[in-house]
Amino acid sequence: MSLRIVVTVKYVPDATGDRHFADDLTVDRDDVDGLLSELDEYAVEQALQIAENADDAEVTVLTVGPEDAKDALRKALSMGADKAIHVEDDDLHGTDAIGTSLVLAKAVEKAGYDLVISGMASTDGTMGVVPALVAERLGVPQVTLLSEVSVEDGTVKGRRDGDAASEQLEAQLPAVVSVTDQSGEARYPSFKGIMAAKKKPVQSWDLSDLDIDAEEVGLDGAFTKVEAATERPARTAGTIVKDEGEGGKQLAEFLASQKFI
Ligand SMILES: Cc1cc2nc3c(=O)[nH]c(=O)nc-3n(C[C@H](O)[C@H](O)[C@H](O)COP(=O)(O)OP(=O)(O)OC[C@H]3O[C@@H](n4cnc5c(N)ncnc54)[C@H](O)[C@@H]3O)c2cc1C
Repeated sequence: MSLRIVVTVKYVPDATGDRHFADDLTVDRDDVDGLLSELDEYAVEQALQIAENADDAEVTVLTVGPEDAKDALRKALSMGADKAIHVEDDDLHGTDAIGTSLVLAKAVEKAGYDLVISGMASTDGTMGVVPALVAERLGVPQVTLLSEVSVEDGTVKGRRDGDAASEQLEAQLPAVVSVTDQSGEARYPSFKGIMAAKKKPVQSWDLSDLDIDAEEVGLDGAFTKVEAATERPARTAGTIVKDEGEGGKQLAEFLASQKFI
């Protein structure tokens, strides 16, 4: 039996770019450069390693996002994923984490899966909740924040490193896992991989393909609402201490004035 691995990947605004809110207080994703969320590259990497160690496996990457989100899928395909699914619909604009988990769960079910792998968090919303929400909706176990993961005889196993201890965890498939940025370097796409990705299938689904009503997602279906957004004040240059013999004393006085000491 082929091991069906689905990796959820998010398309996020480039953190080095000019990120701002649109008039409706959602993040403006239209005129900004975006990319595959860096923390999801680790999820793609672990999926590829599990597939390489399995007799027969298939890696599908899945994203919910605007048209440009295809770039995130293309990156994951060029790393080595086999195929991709893009859920795109104008009614998804402003969808919150609960709505995103609904769309992902329905898409994963429709695609067919044994293991869902996600990043520990996205690099824009950074909530770190979607994998758990998806597992709840699918009614399967979740093993999150793994720094090491493997699949053996229908069981996913992994190690989660905490501050005080490391846990060895396992769950029967089907299951949902998330991996951390400590799970191992993500491979760079090779030129061969980039060329091969151009020919790999990308399925496009909208809400009707997933039997989801527009009211359940988007700004109208959101459980949270951004009331207001104010730009953070530009960073000031800060206090510069020129050490002409009294640098240490000046620094101590500054720290004391800021009540740091
Ligand atoms: C600055 C900011 C603040 C926000 N605040 C809130 C809020 O307070 N409450 C709220 O409900 N929503 C909020 N959102 C919206 C939320 O980001 C989106 O709904 C998002 O799709 C899910 O949340 P997340 O990015 O934090 O995901 P996380 O829970 O951090 O994501 C974990 C993993 O889930 C997968 N994943 C997440 N989104 C997608 C996707 N679209 N496609 C495929 N895989 C995905 C990825 O593998 C990712 O690594 C916010 C968005 C932004 C940009």
